[in-house]
Amino acid sequence: MHVLLRDRMKNLQEKDQHWVHPVTALMDHQAKGVCAWESAEGIHLVDVNGHRVQDAFSGLWCVNAGYGQKSIVEAAKKQLEVLPYATGYFGFGSEPAIELAYRLAKLAPPGLNHVIFGQGGSDAVDTAIRTVRYYFNAIGQPEKKHFIAVQRGYHGSSAVGSGLTALPVFHRYFDVPTSTQHHIEAPYPYRHSAGPDEASVLAATVAALKSKVHEIGRGNVAAFICEPIIGSGGVIVPPAGYLKAMRATCDELGILLIVDEVITGFGRTGPMFGCEHEGVSPDIMTMAKGLTSGYAPMGATIISEQIYAALAEAGSDGTPFGHGQTYAGHPVSAAIANATLDLYENGLLKNGTEVGEYFQSKLRSLEKLDVVGQVRGRGMLAGVELVADKHTRAKPDAKLKIGQKILAHAFSEGLVFRAFNDDILGFAPSLNYTHADVDKLIEILTFSIEKVTGARWI
Ligand code: PLP
Repeated sequence: MHVLLRDRMKNLQEKDQHWVHPVTALMDHQAKGVCAWESAEGIHLVDVNGHRVQDAFSGLWCVNAGYGQKSIVEAAKKQLEVLPYATGYFGFGSEPAIELAYRLAKLAPPGLNHVIFGQGGSDAVDTAIRTVRYYFNAIGQPEKKHFIAVQRGYHGSSAVGSGLTALPVFHRYFDVPTSTQHHIEAPYPYRHSAGPDEASVLAATVAALKSKVHEIGRGNVAAFICEPIIGSGGVIVPPAGYLKAMRATCDELGILLIVDEVITGFGRTGPMFGCEHEGVSPDIMTMAKGLTSGYAPMGATIISEQIYAALAEAGSDGTPFGHGQTYAGHPVSAAIANATLDLYENGLLKNGTEVGEYFQSKLRSLEKLDVVGQVRGRGMLAGVELVADKHTRAKPDAKLKIGQKILAHAFSEGLVFRAFNDDILGFAPSLNYTHADVDKLIEILTFSIEKVTGARWI
């Protein structure tokens, strides 16, 4: 048995050399080898060596419903048997995708009524960008070409969207951002140039957007894009009132607001969408991940009535809106999404909100460790920022890779989460967590931080 497992692992490692893994240091990976998952149930993952860990990151912040949800699996099976594929082109469609478009329009903030389906978050953002360009050209404002995003924001890795992302590895050697892509300082109270006061950070962010638009010229700016909580940039929670203030500022400046809810959607922060915390309706909203809880690829870009009307009008001579992909509105993904929405609506969102509060309060207790500068988050989304000095907020020496070491230790103890490059730990437990699951997460995490850093309670 032992020999069989060893041979199987060797075989896997050899074959894996052919896979260029996403966002991975390729030579490091060749040296270290792959950690291949084999199965999952509830909130646990098991790798091919039989090592079982509690997943505190919902895969890649996507498996919001947890693993092994029978109703999702049944919906997928049924759809595969009945109709495994149907195009959405040329006036065709399928019942699950039609139903899903209707449900998303009902669930999204008021005014967002028309859904463009895609495969995931990156192409949802790309669709938003193409749609905005089309819209302004169609309504006779073709100079409006520039996009503004925030530093540390993440909007995927498509050829164009990666330039709105503001994380260095997505830019280096990729020739982005382009000359029409700009970034303003992140609304990051813990490390903002305006100081830690939330009201000052908010005022400075509004001022930065206005100033950037004036610099480029109002008539040249198309849209501002942001996440309700910056995810991949380190789980950064903007000051309260951020989305509302951005909505008002975009209106004042005559530019569109795109809110990227790829992480924050589907109960991740409590309500169905992050925008709901502030009652904000963007002009365009992107979503993916929790839409299918990761059980199949799917993303969506939902657009306002006003934008849709302009797209429709532009094709009044019979010209199609030339955007789409073979798998847009895939019936199996749509059936999975419908089954996932049923779970959210029938108790999962409520559980996530309730357990999310408990999770936040338990995690916050780690701020009493001298190596923890800040714990922040909302609902089932959180970040723990490690520091070398709590008072000066100095970062740990990057070469020490403390975050990575804490993750490695926790992994050996049976917990997986995410360690961002700059010593911020990320957490996104699934919405089916119980209080006891949270307790276990905190226990292993605390022990791992103490063990790796020798941290003291203050
Ligand atoms: N937008 C945000 C806010 C994201 O967090 C992500 C992925 O993490 C994306 C877009 C890209 O999504 P995908 O990886 O599905 O292409």
